[in-house]
Amino acid sequence: MEGTELSDLRTSVRGSVRTSAPELARYRGDQSPVEGSPCAVVAPTDAEDAERLVRWARRHRIPLVARGGGSSLDGESAARDGSVVADFSGWSRLLEVNTEELWARVEPGLVNRDLQGRLRPHGLFFPPNPGSWTVATIGGNVGTNASGPRSFRYGPTRAWLREVEAVLGTGERVRFGTRVAKRSAGPELVELFAGSEGTLGLATELTVRLAPLPARREGLVVPLPRGGSLSAMARRLRSERSTGLSAVEYIDRAAAAVLSEERALDWPSDAPLLLLEIEANDEGELRRHREAVERALSAVGASHAPTVFSDADELWTLRGASGVALDERMGRRVREDVAVPLGRIDDLVARLEEIGREAPAPFFLYGHLGEGSFHPNYAVPPGSPAAGTIRSKVLSAALDLGGTISAEHGIGVLKVDYLERELGSVALDLLDAVKRRCDPDGILNPGKLYPYRVPRGDAGSSPSPSGSGGSRAPDG
Ligand SMILES: Cc1cc2nc3c(=O)[nH]c(=O)nc-3n(C[C@H](O)[C@H](O)[C@H](O)COP(=O)(O)OP(=O)(O)OC[C@H]3O[C@@H](n4cnc5c(N)ncnc54)[C@H](O)[C@@H]3O)c2cc1C
Repeated sequence: MEGTELSDLRTSVRGSVRTSAPELARYRGDQSPVEGSPCAVVAPTDAEDAERLVRWARRHRIPLVARGGGSSLDGESAARDGSVVADFSGWSRLLEVNTEELWARVEPGLVNRDLQGRLRPHGLFFPPNPGSWTVATIGGNVGTNASGPRSFRYGPTRAWLREVEAVLGTGERVRFGTRVAKRSAGPELVELFAGSEGTLGLATELTVRLAPLPARREGLVVPLPRGGSLSAMARRLRSERSTGLSAVEYIDRAAAAVLSEERALDWPSDAPLLLLEIEANDEGELRRHREAVERALSAVGASHAPTVFSDADELWTLRGASGVALDERMGRRVREDVAVPLGRIDDLVARLEEIGREAPAPFFLYGHLGEGSFHPNYAVPPGSPAAGTIRSKVLSAALDLGGTISAEHGIGVLKVDYLERELGSVALDLLDAVKRRCDPDGILNPGKLYPYRVPRGDAGSSPSPSGSGGSRAPDG
């Protein structure tokens, strides 16, 4: 960025403009291997200031990368070379809670865990609970259409988004969606924002739906028999309508061994595990739900007595700790995020294991079994050619089985090349048209999500589809 552009930036916006090398270094990447060199980090003060920032970026054709907690896993919030990062992490106010109509109005930088904590006294909660909830923001959750273990029962962020106030790439301020309980006034544009990865507008306010907090949440750990069908298990648990099941998670033997080391518990050390959460309004209901779940499990061959955590949060904390231990043990690696229809889970798992053998690479698998959503991990350096080959095989396997290349993390930079194969060219043309209307100069998060059909003016350097021109994407 030239001196004149920077001085215009400083006079155009009211928020802080940071350009020191250590500050910029903090915003280069997210939790993926993708990185770029931003030239400034701006924290807009309010929606008018966000509007001023967008107008400045349009004037100079400089890319803007919106950022919340920076916990994305595919480069969604990594900087582009020469970009300005729009930092929303300070926008953390809970603006309003409507306890009768069950919604909350929030600033986009509010951290998911903080929102949950603020809602608890009202007996309410926001269902999407990604594993990154201690750092991920509601703006980021919307940007990636995040899910979490409880999406088994409650669905992804998209299902809980009611209204978005945003500044489009044109500089227009818009409010999409409604707080009315239902409406049939054409397609609901607010949905375009869920999963849009900061490519359509800067979100300045979000209204999300809330759910009543159940009185009890119990965690169960169930060892699984070797060779049992995960497809059959997932289908059976999905079809149980009256068990209060809110999470159905799977971890394979390798990952389960790490969990067991974290805390000695009474399950076999060499078995894959099912981690379940059951919600209920009182003890009697909880007991009935647990018995029903045990019957359902037994019907598909999982008859080992479950280990019960009377407070499910203890189980999720334990699983989080085992994740950290796995990180330490396996180091940087390829982590994927695919989903298939429940009936194809066994085929997917077999193929994922085979890909590990072909590499060859140490492999472990965990995921949201109840939704056919899995995170295969391969211990190869993300920058190596082997990493690119593995990613390509994993995504192809998911598509070949009628699944998706991204269950919950998004497309970012790393999966741009695969999007057309999943959506088809007509769908991509429609998304292109939306992008052109919202961001005609291509200044909003260029190189993310969309293949490079959108005219980008001079915004940013010219990223190649593998993300190598503007940002470093080692294993794209
Ligand atoms: C340890 C770990 C566990 C995880 N577990 C899960 C999980 O269980 N489920 C899951 O779905 N994901 C998970 N993730 C991925 C990630 O945390 C989520 O995608 C999360 O929603 C990102 O939130 P964030 O605030 O960090 O967003 P960021 O990474 O900052 O941004 C995400 C996207 O949203 C856009 N964005 C952010 N703020 C705005 C705004 N104000 N206006 C417009 N666009 C904006 C960004 O440009 C970017 O494209 C995990 C990540 C890690 C590191």
